[in-house]
Amino acid sequence: MEKQISKLLERARKGIESASSLKELDEVRVRYLGKKGEVTALLKGLGALSPEERPAAGQAVNRGRKEIEDLLAGRKVVIQGLEAEQRLKSQVVDVSLPGVVYDRGSRHPVTRVMGEILDIFRGMGFSVHQGPEVEKDYYNFEALNFPKDHPARDMQDTFFVEEEVVLRTHTSPVQVRAMEKQDPPLRIVSPGRVYRHDYDVTHSPMFHQVEGFMVDEGVAFSDLKGVLVEFVHQFFGHEVPVRFRPSFFPFTEPSAEVDMGCVMCRGKGCRVCSGTGWLEILGSGMIHPEVFRHVGYDSEKYTGFAFGMGVERIAMLHYGIDDIRLLFENDVRFLKQF
Ligand SMILES: [Zn+2]
Repeated sequence: MEKQISKLLERARKGIESASSLKELDEVRVRYLGKKGEVTALLKGLGALSPEERPAAGQAVNRGRKEIEDLLAGRKVVIQGLEAEQRLKSQVVDVSLPGVVYDRGSRHPVTRVMGEILDIFRGMGFSVHQGPEVEKDYYNFEALNFPKDHPARDMQDTFFVEEEVVLRTHTSPVQVRAMEKQDPPLRIVSPGRVYRHDYDVTHSPMFHQVEGFMVDEGVAFSDLKGVLVEFVHQFFGHEVPVRFRPSFFPFTEPSAEVDMGCVMCRGKGCRVCSGTGWLEILGSGMIHPEVFRHVGYDSEKYTGFAFGMGVERIAMLHYGIDDIRLLFENDVRFLKQF
């Protein structure tokens, strides 16, 4: 019996040591300790022994079983360790590999400049209003003191949708719509797309304008000057000189163009400023009493100023872009630079 057990133990030990996975180890366990296993068979066979032999044989079989159990438990720990190590090796992260680079989009330069312009005016107490791009002739021209057959209508090459409906040529109609709805005081800026029949290096048939106006009792030309000089200084820098030049617009009287010192040559004269040292960036003026009459404001009581600027022009000067068409070609190589 003793001999039989030690041979069995010898085989079991080899089987356990050569098991390389938990699954194989369990197969070894079943072969010896399972219901039909060899050790179990030996225990069942004890009944066939004589009463004298039985206690010693029983103890020997139990010692053998205990030893196999210990060996199995020991091997299980070793295999678990090996498997964990294997897992770590297969999941290794090489921190020296280059990372995955994701392409990040950025805002279009016109959108960025528009946002900066609006922020500056918000800071001066203006609120933002929007209006329709397809506009009635009345709002685009008539109410802004462009009567029918007025020569000033020729200043803006208009796209007509129908006889009395146009693609707005400026954002000024928002002024009229706002004044129809609200009484003074008003401080409003209106950004948006406008359309004119024009196409070359500095003109696009669709472009963006920001228009603004302020109406209250006692608004003077000095207020207009203060607001616009502050705008130019905040946007282009406080050292930039600003000048006002008499001009003409049907909806303002008096009217003024606003020039700033050329940002390219610092006033020395260059190609961008045509050698003058100055760049025209804004149109402005005191709102014409005729505009007030159309919206039912008392022009004896209220005064106001209005101004407008082309966002693409400001963006081109800000970033040093010399062809407006680059802004609308959607060439990613160009747009990525901003
Ligand atoms: Zn210049």
